[in-house]
Amino acid sequence: MTHQPAECGRAAFDSVVRLGITPTPDNFAIWYEYHSGLNPELRHLIDLLLRSPGQCDDQTMRAVHRRFFAHQRERQALREASERMQALLQEVGTAVGDAGQEARSFGAAVRETSGAFVAGTTPLPLLIQRLREEAQGMAERSDMLGQHLAGAAERIQTLERSLDDLRHDAATDGLTGLNNRRSFDTRLREAAGQAMNSGEPLTLVLIDIDHFKRVNDQWGHQTGDQVLRLVAATLNAGRRAEDFVARYGGEEFALILPATSAAAAAEIANRMRRGFEGRPIVARNSGTSIGSVTISAGGASYDPGERLSDWVERADKALYAAKQGGRNRVCMAGVAENPPRIASDRPAVTAA
Ligand code: GH3
Ligand code: MG
Ligand code: MG
Repeated sequence: MTHQPAECGRAAFDSVVRLGITPTPDNFAIWYEYHSGLNPELRHLIDLLLRSPGQCDDQTMRAVHRRFFAHQRERQALREASERMQALLQEVGTAVGDAGQEARSFGAAVRETSGAFVAGTTPLPLLIQRLREEAQGMAERSDMLGQHLAGAAERIQTLERSLDDLRHDAATDGLTGLNNRRSFDTRLREAAGQAMNSGEPLTLVLIDIDHFKRVNDQWGHQTGDQVLRLVAATLNAGRRAEDFVARYGGEEFALILPATSAAAAAEIANRMRRGFEGRPIVARNSGTSIGSVTISAGGASYDPGERLSDWVERADKALYAAKQGGRNRVCMAGVAENPPRIASDRPAVTAA
């Protein structure tokens, strides 16, 4: 691990060459960050991938980039959008200012003309002609201002739409369309605050697909992705309106269940778990049956005032216990385990 830019660059180059990674700028960015050691989470993930050969393929690298670097692009796009908005407002401000100036000079011309009329110093036809010209000029300029403002309003609307898209993309996981890790972090904080205020229970459940590496190894990464989308869609369809589902990591998902005790959350998680058990999955592109997947889940109820990281860690430990207990099961911190039930002969479901 090094913090020297030149050394990080060299080490990144070596890794990319040694591991046969496609030498794209995004991939260099990942390996540069890895060798810099400045991002422990990225480092941990890459170390995991490096444990078995062939894990650092293009698709995984793209997923890693999305997870750790996408926010940089979003930040840049947000900065650009706000600069465009500022320029637009300045332009509109100038146009309105100019129009104000012209309205004032029109007012002055009217006052001057009526003064001349009262004094009888200028022949009436001349006064009327001058007024008509001033009024016409004013109307034309107002028209231009009107068009200018309408154009600006349209551009502001377009900008607003692209900001909305950006906000949505920033909160959404690209592969599954679920909330991403960043929105999970935000929602967890909000939900904990609400639970502290309301005194209602709040339970977090972490879900991990069992032996998912085997799916990738046996059927390829693309089918693995399809299974991830299918699991995501199933979890999302199985949640209640007030529940929050996110893709927490590679093949891990998280449920934030408001007003839900640990025991009630265990029931929800078990219902979801049973939904996968023994349910054959058909790969969309090949039509091949790839068997079924099972999930393990671990949950913990929020202990008001505890650090969020401690809470997540308790749920993670419960998930670990579910894995250790044989997988395809749900463990809740502080609740007796529900034994898994084996179902069979379920209709096949096609991976998305
Ligand atoms: P366990 O039951 O202990 O959870 O075993 P596992 O094989 O599911 O867990 P492990 O952590 O060993 O492997 C997880 C795998 O998930 C490895 C990684 O390549 C894969 N993975 C992570 N993200 C993605 C992704 O976006 N797409 C695909 N296809 N695979 C992914
Ligand atoms: Mg995992
Ligand atoms: Mg797993």
